[in-house]
Amino acid sequence: MSTAPVVLIIGCGIAGPVVAILLKRKGYQPIVFEKVSKLADAGASLMLMSNGLKVLNLIGVADDFTTESTPITTLWDAKATGEILGQSNLPSTFTSKYGQPAAGIRRTSANLKLKQLLLDSDIEVREGWQLTDISESDSSVKASFKNGQSVTGSFLIGCDGIKATSRSILLKNQGQTESAADYTGLTQTAGISPTPASLLPVPAMRNWYSDSIHAISYPISPTHTSWAITQRESQEKEETWRPCHPDEMLEQRAYLSKLLAGWDDAVLELVNSSERIIKFGLFDRQELGPEQWYSRRCVLVGDAAHPTSPHLGQGANQALEDAYHLSQLLPAVSTDGAPNEDAISLLVKDLAEVVFKSFAEMRQPRTSALVRGARVQGESRVASGDEACQKRDAAIESSFRDDSIIAAKFDNFLSHPF
Ligand SMILES: Cc1cc2nc3c(=O)[nH]c(=O)nc-3n(C[C@H](O)[C@H](O)[C@H](O)COP(=O)(O)OP(=O)(O)OC[C@H]3O[C@@H](n4cnc5c(N)ncnc54)[C@H](O)[C@@H]3O)c2cc1C
Repeated sequence: MSTAPVVLIIGCGIAGPVVAILLKRKGYQPIVFEKVSKLADAGASLMLMSNGLKVLNLIGVADDFTTESTPITTLWDAKATGEILGQSNLPSTFTSKYGQPAAGIRRTSANLKLKQLLLDSDIEVREGWQLTDISESDSSVKASFKNGQSVTGSFLIGCDGIKATSRSILLKNQGQTESAADYTGLTQTAGISPTPASLLPVPAMRNWYSDSIHAISYPISPTHTSWAITQRESQEKEETWRPCHPDEMLEQRAYLSKLLAGWDDAVLELVNSSERIIKFGLFDRQELGPEQWYSRRCVLVGDAAHPTSPHLGQGANQALEDAYHLSQLLPAVSTDGAPNEDAISLLVKDLAEVVFKSFAEMRQPRTSALVRGARVQGESRVASGDEACQKRDAAIESSFRDDSIIAAKFDNFLSHPF
């Protein structure tokens, strides 16, 4: 029987499977618990950037993802009508500079590929196991699930996303109540469509800006493009990531076609040919302090630790950076099959002080800055009123005049985590 320390990993999204694979390589026995009874089709897409893909490359799936996608070569920003504000071929340099490109991928594909990799790596995945409670002692942790079962392990990693139960429990156990998520006043309608012929020749991340409405698109395969429309709306919709039913799709297409009348034909074509549409509200939360990311035997990772709005496209990439750094900080518990007694003793005595604290203190400032940056980016994208829109458009034009400004912005993301 294995004596490897059991690690309870909550959530089989992006961070959960990756941290599980990295820890298995260090001699741990991870078990991944996922609330969904069978992971299947969900969400729209993710933009994986070089920083996230570097981590995925460590577990051998980056090529698989980039081959399925069409990595972007260009950034292209325009007014709603298609009048260009600026463009740059900076992304075509990412692979030579950072070792990996930037590539959009279907969210479903990312989820299912990572789950398959867990199974191929002999890591147990328990679907339909929804975490409901955690109790800790000095040397172990017990997770309880909605199905009435409980499992004990050496420590627990909460990778359960933006609405993490692990985060609420940790905060409650620290005597704090989690504040409710704030509606940002913005909704996003996202879709996946065949790529319009006019967009096919240049695989680009494209932005269109108007008064109170912003559109973005990028390829997720040689034939398909993912897009999203952000707008100011008072109506709150939860971030359920549920695809619209066919009748809702027709309604959404008609609504968006009217809303976007006069826009670039490519945007209207994307909307009208969409194969799936998802609409959700964008919610925000106050950032947690590093000391709120962990307890004696639990630590939060990814969106569970730093939920973010999507405007910088860094949610999944930061979750991957977290997975890398946490796995680096955790000691290898066996070397060539022989137990590493020092590492095992550290796990029992100093896990929180030595590993979790260092992890949280290293990651919290960077992720908090990105959460705040995403908030600012979201607000500026949907600037309202003539004056604010002119100011925004002038700032975009000016940023494209000097590639070094855009390069510096991307370098802050992509030069990490190694
Ligand atoms: C279904 C879904 C679709 C998404 N679609 C998009 C999208 O289209 N575009 C975009 O930009 N971002 C999307 N996101 C958000 C984006 O994927 C995240 O920012 C990113 O994946 C962060 O990774 P993570 O591992 O921290 O969390 P996630 O990838 O969100 O993974 C969290 C996982 O934990 C599971 N979980 C939650 N609560 C529990 C519980 N109590 N017990 C056990 N398991 C639990 C969830 O089902 C999920 O599988 C989506 C998230 C989800 C869950």
